[in-house]
Amino acid sequence: MTDPTATLYIDGAWVPSSTGETRTVTCPADQREVGVVSEASGEDVERAILAARRAFESRVWADEPASARGDLLLKVADQLQERKDEFARAEALDTGKRLVEAEGDMDDITACFRYFGKIADQHPGRLIDAGDDSVISRVVHEPIGVCGMITPWNFPLLQASWKIAPAIAAGNSFVIKPAELTPHTTVLIIDVLDRLGLPAGVANLVLGDGGVVGAPLSSHPEIDLVSFTGGLVTGRKIAGAAAQGIKKVALELGGKNPNVVFADADYEAALDNALNAGFMDSGLLCSAGTRLIVQDTIAERFVDDLVARAEGIVMGGPFDQKAETGPLISQQHRDKVTDYVRRGVEAGARLRIGGHWGGPEHEQGFFYAPTVLDRCTSENPAVVEEGFGPVITVETFSTEAEAIAIANDTEYGLAGGVWTSDSGTANRVSRRLRHGTIWVNDYHPYLPQAEWGGFKMSGVGRELGATGLEEYTEAKHIYENTEPAVTGWFPRTS
Ligand code: NAD
Repeated sequence: MTDPTATLYIDGAWVPSSTGETRTVTCPADQREVGVVSEASGEDVERAILAARRAFESRVWADEPASARGDLLLKVADQLQERKDEFARAEALDTGKRLVEAEGDMDDITACFRYFGKIADQHPGRLIDAGDDSVISRVVHEPIGVCGMITPWNFPLLQASWKIAPAIAAGNSFVIKPAELTPHTTVLIIDVLDRLGLPAGVANLVLGDGGVVGAPLSSHPEIDLVSFTGGLVTGRKIAGAAAQGIKKVALELGGKNPNVVFADADYEAALDNALNAGFMDSGLLCSAGTRLIVQDTIAERFVDDLVARAEGIVMGGPFDQKAETGPLISQQHRDKVTDYVRRGVEAGARLRIGGHWGGPEHEQGFFYAPTVLDRCTSENPAVVEEGFGPVITVETFSTEAEAIAIANDTEYGLAGGVWTSDSGTANRVSRRLRHGTIWVNDYHPYLPQAEWGGFKMSGVGRELGATGLEEYTEAKHIYENTEPAVTGWFPRTS
């Protein structure tokens, strides 16, 4: 890639937009210009989808041994570590997140590629006992075909890697569209695939607006699977469009994640992790534990301590050594969070801290101060809606049954935490919470080996783990009769 505005990757070549249009990307921490990228047209997306279809039908990648596909992913992992600084810097500038967080993301992304690289040839299918020695019955996993992938801005490359790695492992072709605000690391990973010799047409990259560039990836007849990570509103549109084409769909949507603290929990650990759960990365994690549900006997002290700790959190840009958390992604996003907090207070919540855009040193960026709203009820819009910002709402409970009922009282079901020193409580509560990931006495860690995804409106399907690979395949039953014989079902009459 030599021309920085030829940043679409279609059929094995870096090309500019067919309209010549470009988009300037800025850093949300200080609005500095980060780069200029091509803005794809509908025609570019069409070319990318058709290139992916041709590559798939040629079997150029699907017929490679699964072990060779896995080897390529392991090489990607090596490249990610070799070029870690370049990737982390690009991610930090696009998102405004702290460099140290972006570096941590690169290690997680590397682990994802390694995991799928290692299991690519560990998915041979299974033999079925047909109850007849003359029959060989087996279930095999075929690549699903052409995958349309759409990703959000909060963890641009991490979310992309959860899709790209299993799609390649399974032998598919794909077209990916990252969020328009944060395209650079997806451009870089495609550069890695290009340099490693992935055949032309297997990976395609289009950049730009969701409605123009993203929408065809869920509606085009040549797309077999659409895998989307983003908000509920967009997820609904994508699911609707995919349903018209009877496409397989995988949706990783938002969350309203409960963090339940029992009075018998390790107090300091629960307090410290409640801060991490809600304020890490400015609360811009789909799994952020922004709904604190604390037992009434300790609630007052716990919330006072939480507020005191939140007051000390330092906001700053990616390269500010003192910063502990970064900005939101845009002014539009900050307006949304501002309105969300205003409506929460109007509905009766008490603003304990935050609710503002920071000090004069934050004026160049889209910062929003860590915010705590207590005295919340489950009907309060700040409790019901995903705020997607550094805002913790507080509710209280007295019994275990009440804690479970409150924590499940949401249309979402992505993740949640339980804090207790009683293993019986931990076991009962974690089994009864209707969320896809439950942390007990911890918050946030995830493993590439373990499935990730949502119950209810948090999504459909799973990423990561063995299921995350299976999502990119179709199961096929092959029934072979080794002793063909006349059945006599329709007897000969002549
Ligand atoms: P978003 O839904 O606004 O955008 C996500 C992507 O969809 C972007 O690439 C956007 O351009 C594209 N898009 C927009 N309209 C489209 C359309 N009509 N057709 C096709 N594509 C379209 O989400 P966002 O604001 O970028 O991301 C934040 C959301 O993502 C939050 O709700 C968060 O919880 C969620 N998220 C979920 C997970 C998870 O694992 N469940 C992970 C990260 C983020």
